[in-house]
Amino acid sequence: MATMGLRNRWVIGNWKMNGTRAGNAALLGAVSAAPSGAGKLGLCVPFPYLGQAQSVLTGGHIAWGAQDVSEHAAGAYTGQVSAAMLAEFGVTLALVGHSERRQYNGETSDLVARKASAALNAGITPVICVGETLAERDAGRAEAVVGQQLQACMDVLQRSQGAAIVAYEPVWAIGTGKTATPAEAQAMHAFIRATLRALGAEADATSILYGGSVKASNAQELFTQADIDGGLIGGASLVAADFLAIAAAL
Ligand code: PEP
Repeated sequence: MATMGLRNRWVIGNWKMNGTRAGNAALLGAVSAAPSGAGKLGLCVPFPYLGQAQSVLTGGHIAWGAQDVSEHAAGAYTGQVSAAMLAEFGVTLALVGHSERRQYNGETSDLVARKASAALNAGITPVICVGETLAERDAGRAEAVVGQQLQACMDVLQRSQGAAIVAYEPVWAIGTGKTATPAEAQAMHAFIRATLRALGAEADATSILYGGSVKASNAQELFTQADIDGGLIGGASLVAADFLAIAAAL
């Protein structure tokens, strides 16, 4: 069964550190020109391009977002960007805890939780990214790791009443061309939903997206799993036709 009806279905692109003003104009133009489909679409772009995304996407059916947000409201935090600043650019989505930030910037689950909270307090939907490494999976610790990452965000998950989005992105599947099988992904998504329920969050209203080398060729099989409510898309979000083909699988 593809949907429980209660949950929003999403395809969200993560451009990572890619883009140029000219390239973005073409990509944003092509994606926004396509008719809206069954689910919701979002694009998380680098900070300097938020104004450009806002000017192209305002009034259309595609949301835009950031790839990170500061835990702080304002002050001496050089290089950081606050949730209130993002809101001034019409941002409604913010990734938090992407594995590349956990890995390269040493972000802990507690910091991720504070960032998610800062986003939520500013009216921005946090997209809380969780996922295990290959070593953790091979050691049989995948559920323990993801469970701990969710537990750290318990307060924000409860407070959001189903508005926060969870993205399950096995680290070994991000940008590697390796995708979790639909059965592997569904099993973890079911675990995540059960964990949300156990933590007192609105589990049945929470969108849980899968991320990790999603392509047009595997999107439909993933998105039709009972607990997979769409996808977080990295590389394929940089090509309009690929992103739109994935969106069509919602
Ligand atoms: C991501 O960056 O969140 C991601 C899932 O990347 P990719 O689709 O390229 O694996």
